[in-house]
Amino acid sequence: MKDLLGLRGLDAHEIENILTTAVEMKKILVNNVKKTNHLSNKSVATLFYENSTRTRTSFEIAAKFMGAVLSSIPVAQSSVRKGETLIDTGKTLDALATDVIVIRHEVSGAPHFLAKNVKASVINGGDGMNEHPTQALLDMFTVAEEKGSLKGLKVAIIGDVKHSRVARSNLWGMSKLGAEITLCAPGTLMPKDIGLAVKNLKIEKNADEAVRGADVVMGLRLQLERMTSGLIPSVGEYNEFYGLSEKRLKGADKDVMVLHPGPINRGVEIDGDVADAKNSFIERQVTNGVAVRMAVLFLLTRS
Ligand code: ASP
Repeated sequence: MKDLLGLRGLDAHEIENILTTAVEMKKILVNNVKKTNHLSNKSVATLFYENSTRTRTSFEIAAKFMGAVLSSIPVAQSSVRKGETLIDTGKTLDALATDVIVIRHEVSGAPHFLAKNVKASVINGGDGMNEHPTQALLDMFTVAEEKGSLKGLKVAIIGDVKHSRVARSNLWGMSKLGAEITLCAPGTLMPKDIGLAVKNLKIEKNADEAVRGADVVMGLRLQLERMTSGLIPSVGEYNEFYGLSEKRLKGADKDVMVLHPGPINRGVEIDGDVADAKNSFIERQVTNGVAVRMAVLFLLTRS
């Protein structure tokens, strides 16, 4: 595999291979080894056209831990602002002998377009409303680490499904590993055609129903930056009907895991006490993100 562009195009075996490799990478992290030579003769560039804290930092940490030469392209100060096209930026990175480009872009499909036009491996760090494969991989890794496997688990993904690339990647990935997914959103935030090809998918408007008996509940941020107006009546009302609250989570399995890709908006899609509770895995997700990204960088550059 040259690139990692999404989970829709991967099969269960390929996903499991990444997760198994990430288990080995996590052992390295747990032992506090912050230098390996997995990528000692490789160079990695991060090219983020959209904001990011976790994804960009964890890719950069992963690349550095594994000994790669890292360049972090400051898009705001780069030639992109002088009108350079994505392909020309990609070709420049090729000419600089870049082995891997991690790209985040507001346009769905931009990483796929770049991948067709550069020699470097391309990793999708989030493209518009399409996919965010490494986020879903770290979510699956976190669930499998705790529960053993995804098979037969009830996973409720609640919030702004319409604008969420995290929901889409998890839908593809988790369903391939045998989880039963319920997507829950108000009608205005649920695309009509989502998951038509996914088995065991439930679409639910009522968040209490979605949470009932769930082994995993994932909250999604309201993607206000992608919304036109008028999709929700008010943030307060949204929180009441769709927010993850202690009361709502009482309906879930007693060992429910609470996940959120971050950044969280406390009091909107998740209450502060839920985000900070013992069964919240939000920080573990961040830690696991490094292991998963180490695995992906390793697998794509291995010759
Ligand atoms: N960090 C995730 C993303 O980039 C989720 C979010 O922004 O709400 O898609």
